[in-house]
Amino acid sequence: MVMACVDLPKAADSSSVPIPPPLPSKSDGHQKRYRNDAAPEHTCVPTATRDMWDRLFNDGYKANVVIYTDNGGIVYAHANIIGTASSVIKGMLKQAKKHGKWYTISIRGVPHEAVRVFIRFLYSSCYKKEEMNEYIMHLLLLSHAYVVPQMKRVCEWHLEHGLLTTENVIDVFQLALLCDFPRLSVISHRMIMKHFKELYATEAWTAMKKSHPFLEKELRDSVFIEENARKERIRKRNEERIYSQLYEAMEALVHICRDGCKTIGPHDKDLKPNHATCHYEACKGLESLIRHFAGCKLRVPGGCVHCKRMWQLLELHSRVCADSDQCRVPLCGNFKEKMEKQSKKDEVRWKLLVKNVLGSKKIGASPFFLPVTSSSSTMS
Ligand SMILES: [Zn+2]
Ligand SMILES: [Zn+2]
Ligand SMILES: [Zn+2]
Repeated sequence: MVMACVDLPKAADSSSVPIPPPLPSKSDGHQKRYRNDAAPEHTCVPTATRDMWDRLFNDGYKANVVIYTDNGGIVYAHANIIGTASSVIKGMLKQAKKHGKWYTISIRGVPHEAVRVFIRFLYSSCYKKEEMNEYIMHLLLLSHAYVVPQMKRVCEWHLEHGLLTTENVIDVFQLALLCDFPRLSVISHRMIMKHFKELYATEAWTAMKKSHPFLEKELRDSVFIEENARKERIRKRNEERIYSQLYEAMEALVHICRDGCKTIGPHDKDLKPNHATCHYEACKGLESLIRHFAGCKLRVPGGCVHCKRMWQLLELHSRVCADSDQCRVPLCGNFKEKMEKQSKKDEVRWKLLVKNVLGSKKIGASPFFLPVTSSSSTMS
């Protein structure tokens, strides 16, 4: 768990500890370095300048700060550089006891290497990619604790571009909330929503439940809300598809009854099979439904399931038809008369269906149908 607390700014208490000399130069010059060029911020600082800053850190030339880290580690630095890069460190240096030319401070609670990478960044904004991968959480914490915005941005960028995983997302999310990384909190929240089932069973989740029970509950609630919203979206999409299919069936019905299609159509039309290519997708299904309707032998009250469907389509047509007098669809006028005698409940239901069907194809609506009305029916 990486949520360990960094020992925040305090001067080292080891007043009697003798100051060891700087370590021999361990130049990073020959190693592959990674700069934050990939990160959102671009820079025009020449490579040579960065190399010089890197060298100054690595060589510790005229260093005057000893930074004590965990497990007896030491990092050397220059007070004016790290104090300028971080106002928090500047405050620490002010309070630090001096031993000759040496200031001594401590940065504890994170691995020694993480502190080294952090201090190096203060000099040259350089870091190795492997180091960033390994210490990302510590660096995120350090960048917040020591107020180093440019490092915050680099850490955020790396997390957003590959380092945020299901292994660290719960820690990152909590850290993002605690340390004010708004963008990161949104991104990690999204990831948690996406992988909730997998994450819910992890130790990190259990730990979060213990340390931040309200946050854990909020997360579960938002998963629940998100899931409901997803189901609602699917329901709406299916509904829209059905309305759209009904609209197409309405168009095809007018087309069959007016022009005829393939072998089916008005009696006064001379129908030659395949005389023209039909552009109505719904024609095929409708054609077989009409054939069935015309010759159904099933003696079921109200008709069989297919016949019932046909009756419904004919009634729906009548309700969307703009001009029943000119219309060639069978029973169009009869249904219009029947409409006047319908119950209030039926009227509301049909009106809502008509509104939804017509509304499903607002653009390029057919001139044969009524215009879409804006009056909304409220049907439970
Ligand atoms: Zn057709
Ligand atoms: Zn039938
Ligand atoms: Zn009609």
